[in-house]
Order: sequence, then structure tokens, then C-alpha cells
Amino acid sequence: MKILVLNSGSSSIKFKVFKLNSQKEQVLASGTVDRIGIKGSKIEYENFRDQEIVLDLDVPRHERGIELVLETLQDDEVGIIYSLDEINAVGHRVVHGGEKFAQSTLINDEVIRQIEEVSHLAPLHNPHNLNGICVCEEIMSDKPQVAVFDTAFHQTMHREAYMYAVPYKYYTRHGIRRYGFHGTSHKYVSTRAAEETGKQLNSLKIITCHLGNGASVAAVDEGESIETSMGLTPLEGLIMGTRCGDLDPGLITFLMEKEDLSIKEVNDIMNKESGLLGLSGISSDSRDVRKAAADGHKRARIALDLFNYKVVKYIGAYTAVMGGLDVIVFTAGIGENACDLRADIINDLDFLNIELNEQANQVRQTAKKITTDDSQVDVYVIPTNEELVIARDTAAIIEKNEIQV
Ligand code: ADP
Repeated sequence: MKILVLNSGSSSIKFKVFKLNSQKEQVLASGTVDRIGIKGSKIEYENFRDQEIVLDLDVPRHERGIELVLETLQDDEVGIIYSLDEINAVGHRVVHGGEKFAQSTLINDEVIRQIEEVSHLAPLHNPHNLNGICVCEEIMSDKPQVAVFDTAFHQTMHREAYMYAVPYKYYTRHGIRRYGFHGTSHKYVSTRAAEETGKQLNSLKIITCHLGNGASVAAVDEGESIETSMGLTPLEGLIMGTRCGDLDPGLITFLMEKEDLSIKEVNDIMNKESGLLGLSGISSDSRDVRKAAADGHKRARIALDLFNYKVVKYIGAYTAVMGGLDVIVFTAGIGENACDLRADIINDLDFLNIELNEQANQVRQTAKKITTDDSQVDVYVIPTNEELVIARDTAAIIEKNEIQV
């Protein structure tokens, strides 16, 4: 089965084509259409034969972007299919599924309506994800389409974990509660980690640390997410590249008053000017911050120390919530690559009797256990693969619904 996976953002479309069968899961092609509707738009494309192209083209709208993707996939030289008939289905990343979607779902008019209904919860993302779906419905109307939600995996959280203690009417009126994000990643790496241990997922207590530019931690107990650090929006929780993470909510009105800020201004401060960037004053990229800290930059050191401290704090809290811990997983840009940072975090978790294997911890972007066999908790690096989950879910739904493709 060949599945096209699409991630439609405000000005970009990321795509990947997978060939899935019982023996093999192969990426046939991948790429990005960038700067849609902005001067300098282009498509970057790579196929499984290692052919790469970058085309500078005018892409005024998403519709043209998706057409370009389909044309490139069928190109005489770099293409990977002869005709669109070979694509069996399309899987779409959708950021927010609200409480409506606890699972990936076959798209129909009612599903589109329901995604629209929860879009106010992710106004910067869902409308663009929906746009991608609608364009595909138009230009590939015969292909089944599946929506895979970032929030779905966390719908198993219990009420104690997802409610905020604000008047209940705001939950019923506006859906104000914690949803969590990065669900596809947390689901994938927890499942992969269980495979690596050779134990059943439903016998394990796992904490997954997705540490990228956006960052979140999840407590996965017997295969179900029971806690995660992001909330109503992706602002809550860990310190991120430019997001502040947990705050005293009183800080926001205090700051607005002191600095005479509008809602948009304060929103921008929390989302775009805080985190590693705001603290260090150097960069949102952890590599730059780490380098500056090593060179003696005081604020860079503060930023890194706070980042690590928060991860340690969440791991402690989630161990308590699950009543124990078997496995910790590090994933995403920082989690997969930053060996020193992983070592610092693990060394701060003395109470868990974790024994780091220094040599194994030099690993980058490869699935590997980084603790010794004596360690009471196993720690793994597992590269995330959200697109593969989207492709797998899409294939599974097509098969379950016995859709002829
Ligand atoms: P996003 O949330 O945008 O998907 P990524 O998962 O790509 O983010 O992670 C970006 C972060 O990963 C950056 O802070 C970057 O510094 C870090 N990172 C990427 N590669 C490395 C590396 N080789 N060593 C240390 N950190 C890295």
C-alpha cells in the first residue's frame, strides 16, 4: 500500500510517501513546499534513490502546492509513481481533535464539520490542516483520507489530570481543559521503547520526553497516556525554544499592567520571546545556548539549568503519578542528539537509581538503551517518526473499513 502523508501548515506543506506491507515500511519520497503565498516559494524533494531537487516556483496557494507535490511524485526523472492511481490513501496531520477524536479517523463531511468545530482551540494550526484536507478532497476525490490528531493519544488522561480549577462553566462553554500535544510522537516512541525492552507495553510504566524546539513529557502507563505537560495550548509545561512553559497565571495580568501590553503582545512574549531564547538572550537553539554556556555566558547557563530542572521535576512528578517507573525515553531534536544534556538530566535523577552507560549515551538519532543492565530504570533514545504513525494509522483504517483501493 502506498500512503501519502501531508502536514499542511500556514505557509508550508510537508509530505512523505510510504510504501507499507507486512514485510517492510519504506519511505519512497519526502519533501516540503515552503513559503506558500510568500515571495520566494519553493519545493524541496528527495526520493529513495537519493535524487534531490529544489525548485523555485510560484506557489500562491495551498491548492497549487499540493498539485506540485503530486506532479513531482509522477515526474519522469525523479518521480516514484507512474500515476496517482498508485496512491492508495492520504493521511493528514491535524493538530487538535478536541474531545471529539480519541483516535485517527476516516474523513467524511461530518468529520470535517467536527474538526471545524474544535478549530477555535488551535486557530494557528487546524484551519491550515483543514485546508490541506479540503484541497485533497477536491483534487483527489476518489482517495480515502484519514485525519491523525496530535491530541488523540492523550484523550485517555483522567479528569484529575485534564481539568483546570477555573469555574466549571468554562469547560462546558469553551472546552477549556488540558489536551496535550505531540501525541503521535509519544505514542510512537513509547511503543518502540517497549519493543526494545522485549516486554509487553501494557506491563510498563514509561515517561517519554519529547525535547525539540517544542517540548513535552508524557506519562504512559500500560500503553495509555495518563499525563502530559502541555495543556489547553502548547505553552504549558517545559521550557521550550521560545515558549515559557509553566507560569503563575497571575504573572500575565501583572506584566500586561506593568508594561501596558495588549493580548497579542503578551501572547507573543509567552510564545515567541521566552524559553531558551528569552532567558539566554542568545538563541532558541539549544546548541547555541549550550556553546555559550560552555564559554561562560551566565544567562545561557541559567537557561539550560532551568530547562533540565523542569524535565527532572516532571519525571519525578510522573513517577509519583504512575506509582513507579520502568522506562524513560528521550526523543526529538534535543532528546535524540544532546548527549551531555541527557547525562545531566539522568545524573539529577539519583533517587531512581539509574546507572547511565556513558559510552552508549554517545548515540545520536538511533534507537539505543543508554543505561547499564544494573540500572533500576531503563533509559532509551528513540528517534521519533510521526509521519510513519500517520501512514500506519491510515493504512489500518483503510483495511479496517475494507475500502477498496
Ligand atoms: P521541532 O519542535 O521544531 O520539530 P526539533 O525536534 O527539530 O524541533 O528540535 C530542534 C532542537 O534540537 C533545537 O534546539 C536544536 O538545537 C536541537 N538539536 C538538533 N540537532 C542537535 C544536535 N546534533 N545536538 C544537540 N541538539 C540538537
